[in-house]
Amino acid sequence: MPPSEQIAQLMALIYGTGLTTTSGGNISIKESNGDIWITPAALDKGSLKVDQVVCVHPDGSVTGDYAPSSELPFHQAIYEKRPDIKSVIHAHPPALVSYSIVRKKPDTSVLPQVLSTCGQVGYASYRLPGTKELGESISREFESGFNCLIMENHGTVVGGADSDQAFQRFETLEFCARTLIRGHQIGTVNLLSNEQISMFDGATDNLGEFQSESQGHSEQQVREEICTYVHRACRQKLMISTYGTVSVRLDTDDFIITPTGINRHYIEPNDLVLISNGTKESGKQPSRAVHIHQEIYKKHPEINSIISTQSPNATAYCVSGKTIDTHTIPESYFLLNDIKLMPFGCQFGSSSVIPDALSKESPVLLIQNDAILTTGGTILQAFDRLEVAEFSARSLIDSKSIGKMVPISQNDIRQIKEKFLS
Ligand SMILES: [Zn+2]
Repeated sequence: MPPSEQIAQLMALIYGTGLTTTSGGNISIKESNGDIWITPAALDKGSLKVDQVVCVHPDGSVTGDYAPSSELPFHQAIYEKRPDIKSVIHAHPPALVSYSIVRKKPDTSVLPQVLSTCGQVGYASYRLPGTKELGESISREFESGFNCLIMENHGTVVGGADSDQAFQRFETLEFCARTLIRGHQIGTVNLLSNEQISMFDGATDNLGEFQSESQGHSEQQVREEICTYVHRACRQKLMISTYGTVSVRLDTDDFIITPTGINRHYIEPNDLVLISNGTKESGKQPSRAVHIHQEIYKKHPEINSIISTQSPNATAYCVSGKTIDTHTIPESYFLLNDIKLMPFGCQFGSSSVIPDALSKESPVLLIQNDAILTTGGTILQAFDRLEVAEFSARSLIDSKSIGKMVPISQNDIRQIKEKFLS
């Protein structure tokens, strides 16, 4: 895709997912000939068109109908110091701005996938926007190896080897910041040790491969259904480009699962991986969670779909080591029942800890410093449980500023069980 199209598509995604305002933020892509494509100054970011993106040539001349972003100097300074970076995104997303105005950095050691996507975060001191001094303050941090920065009293800037990687870092960091802020509202946030992080880095699927034949009608339908729910989860801010696994059982020993390393916003049916009798479709890389999904399907014939993701409010409970109290409203209790908190590490390999913890009374689990895992007889039921859990977590956290939560009584719970769960 030409750079101008990439930038317009990315700006639509960033604006559409609430990560920038109409006036804030800029995106650039550097080509191998030295041309820098960048968003124009002072245009509506909510409706940016491909032909509004401008190109700044190495000699300083500009092609396009508009002036380049006023932040062009710091984009140029980053490219100068880091030849490996080919795309830069800057914006003022709310959670990262919260960090920037209390002059702190989000600690990415809280979730392994965040650390592997973003690395540790750098910090650039405040300088006036659009100045050479701001460029120096930012590019110094990039030069020392950071790919993601907090800009003091301003926002964030990230770089990547291409625009997709830059976006993945940008979105992942903002969701990490949201999760941390919510986690601090619940209690103490737990960070991961190096040993725990290496468990994630070392997790591979080790599955044998098979040559897939043509897909039957029901398999095609399942693939399309999974993509529909993944895209919907991204729109509903329950899933992000770099994290989130969905699987659906095809029959006793076969299921279809999302891959690793593909941007969830744009996932397509043929990206998904068929797992058949413990082997994978050749040439594809299933989610790291494939073993756990396989063990869950083996142990629980009633489960036909599994979702694990890092929706910020539910994940705030995972990182603060607490579980979501479901004795809040009838819907929460009869859809989620009692949610167990599982220790970090049990999600890797073929351990039976997670399959054993699931039951009719516990269809949803929280895994410490990782994710929420929901199950269902259908993908709709697993998705509904995810939404209800995320909403419940949000209500619980928000309620703290207005009063003390009063749970429904044991007698109420008994009546809900009799009416909806027997
Ligand atoms: Zn700015």
